Amino acid sequence: MTINPSFPIEAYATLTLANQADSSFSTLRQAMAQQAREHELQIREDTDTALCVEVASFGQLRITAQENGFSVYISAALPDRLFMLKDGFSENLEQLLPEAAKALRWSDSATQASLPPNLHFTTVQSITPIGTAFLRVRINGEDLSSFQDDAIHFRLVLPPAGCGEPVWPSLSENGTTVWPKGENALHRPVYTTRWIDRQAGLMDFDIFLHDGGRATEWVRSASVGEVLAIAGPGGGGIPQVSHILLFADETAFPAAARILASLPADSQGQATLVAAEGEACGYPISAPKGVQLTWRVRRDASDLAERALSARAAQPAHCFWFASEKSDVTPVRQAIKASPPAAGTSYIAAYWSKP
Ligand SMILES: Cc1cc2nc3c(=O)[nH]c(=O)nc-3n(C[C@H](O)[C@H](O)[C@H](O)COP(=O)(O)OP(=O)(O)OC[C@H]3O[C@@H](n4cnc5c(N)ncnc54)[C@H](O)[C@@H]3O)c2cc1C
Repeated sequence: MTINPSFPIEAYATLTLANQADSSFSTLRQAMAQQAREHELQIREDTDTALCVEVASFGQLRITAQENGFSVYISAALPDRLFMLKDGFSENLEQLLPEAAKALRWSDSATQASLPPNLHFTTVQSITPIGTAFLRVRINGEDLSSFQDDAIHFRLVLPPAGCGEPVWPSLSENGTTVWPKGENALHRPVYTTRWIDRQAGLMDFDIFLHDGGRATEWVRSASVGEVLAIAGPGGGGIPQVSHILLFADETAFPAAARILASLPADSQGQATLVAAEGEACGYPISAPKGVQLTWRVRRDASDLAERALSARAAQPAHCFWFASEKSDVTPVRQAIKASPPAAGTSYIAAYWSKP
């Protein structure tokens, strides 16, 4: 196997299937290829006997048919990214070929820790209001080196309110993360690294306060010195572009603020920001002079998807970045299916959904 220099860390496994090896492999290959297309991942190879998918800056995953089963080879940029790719593959296998999943053993299993390597225990350093609708949490963690600009999201891992000693996830023999269930289930909403000092092990994230939110309840009662578990990093990164069309609601302001602040000074484009009270929410966002910032009050912004699609039609070469509530996102996704963007030129994501 040739090692890609961008992804120097590897793990592999060979699985023997008791019967119908060909059709089982084909089921797995087709399901994984479909998922890769849905997540706009690059498919590097797709034949009857092999599938290779690349997750930008994370790594590559290749499955290959063998005489009585198949092999899987994963290479990654960093150890915790290798773990996340392995974890994702194991989860998939559990859904599609549960018997094979039980028998899965990775080549690096002897070096496995008992806790998932992407679980970090941090300490709350401060909680500060940002404008009228956010609280900014600063945390301190021992090793936040993998929280790079190409993966700016992570999950809070919140034990059930009022529980005594939390039950943390563990690793099973096949390398899958086993999350506690039932009354011990952990709440795992996704958040965005707003600022990070990797050397000092400090990170900020901003929680948009909304009624009924368990993260909102957590942050309102959290105190300095409290332990907070997070899992990550994961998700999208900061696009390396100079022309952008960006659309975001409050939940995406932290990501939007980082992206706009990272643009080159001569960038061009527009950014539309939707909040309940518009600009009065006081969330600090700035952009280069050539990127027009437009604030919109939510009750007047029901045409967000339409406006975003018109802007995209007018400026098809601009990077298109859209993150908001699911009902805003669905029509954008559907419209774009007809003219799929080149890989890496767009990001369209539902950050939350109405009940
Ligand atoms: C990639 C990504 C990055 C994200 N980054 C951030 C971030 O940096 N900051 C941030 O605040 N959020 C962010 N979000 C959104 C956040 O994960 C969701 O809002 C999540 O539901 C919050 O969890 P919760 O515990 O507050 O609510 P839950 O307890 O999970 O949900 C309770 C209720 O709240 C509703 N709800 C959820 N979000 C909202 C909302 N925004 N407004 C009104 N009602 C809501 C739900 O519909 C549900 O009915 C991000 C999401 C994604 C996918």
